[in-house]
Amino acid sequence: MPELPEVEVVRQGLAPLLVGRVIVDAACLGPSLRLAPPVAELGRLAVGGQGRAVRRRGKYLILELDNQTRLVFHLGMTGRLGVFPKNEQVKPHDHWLFALDDQTELRFNDTRRFGSLQLLPPGQDEAVIFGGLGPEPLLAGFSAAYLLGRAQGRRQPVKSFLMDNRVVVGIGNIYASEILFAAAISPWRPAREVSAPEWEVLVTATREVLVRAIAAGGSTIADFVNASGRPGSFQRELKAYGREGQTCPRCGGLIVRQAMAGRAAFFCPGCQR
Ligand SMILES: [Zn+2]
Repeated sequence: MPELPEVEVVRQGLAPLLVGRVIVDAACLGPSLRLAPPVAELGRLAVGGQGRAVRRRGKYLILELDNQTRLVFHLGMTGRLGVFPKNEQVKPHDHWLFALDDQTELRFNDTRRFGSLQLLPPGQDEAVIFGGLGPEPLLAGFSAAYLLGRAQGRRQPVKSFLMDNRVVVGIGNIYASEILFAAAISPWRPAREVSAPEWEVLVTATREVLVRAIAAGGSTIADFVNASGRPGSFQRELKAYGREGQTCPRCGGLIVRQAMAGRAAFFCPGCQR
């Protein structure tokens, strides 16, 4: 499932292909996605609009048009957004096609259909979609002081706390494991027991891990590809996630995998406290 780095990589790939382009047609093929607007509404609001920016909020991608309409995509588990030559064969599970004024098409493909497309008409506040989301981990609002406050009284494991998008957006199972490894904090530590200096370390670790992952084009564990159809390489740099039974690169102990809240936590019991 794409997390913040993968979505950011897609955003960076799409922006130069969509900014300045005019949407000349919109079509929905096959069964629609969760939360998709009707074609007529998209036709009325998006067709004729010119791309002004491609933004990201958490794991949402927002194509902002010059007429103030915003198309809000979520990749879900298997969603892919890419720009293709108009004459290239449509693939199975291509759900939405947006024809552009340069003979290309923005296509949203989603095998498992957990992705979504929502439409924000001009004037509609984005809080309708993003209102409950926590801060961006790469921006200043994500700080040790903020985390210390949010963690007060929370006895849930710090890994689950970090994966709650009301606390901070975009961190899923892979990056929560990597961030906690980098910060040398056990995923099982109750959030309320993490100290202010430890949150400082964790904030720094979060930024370092996410920035490096974005620079590496994201992690391709299953089938993630960027807007040009190419996989990322950060999976080769993972130190904890998916490495159970292998040697800890810090202390030489063994990385373990334990079930936590229905997901797998990967960590080194030797050096993560
Ligand atoms: Zn270790």
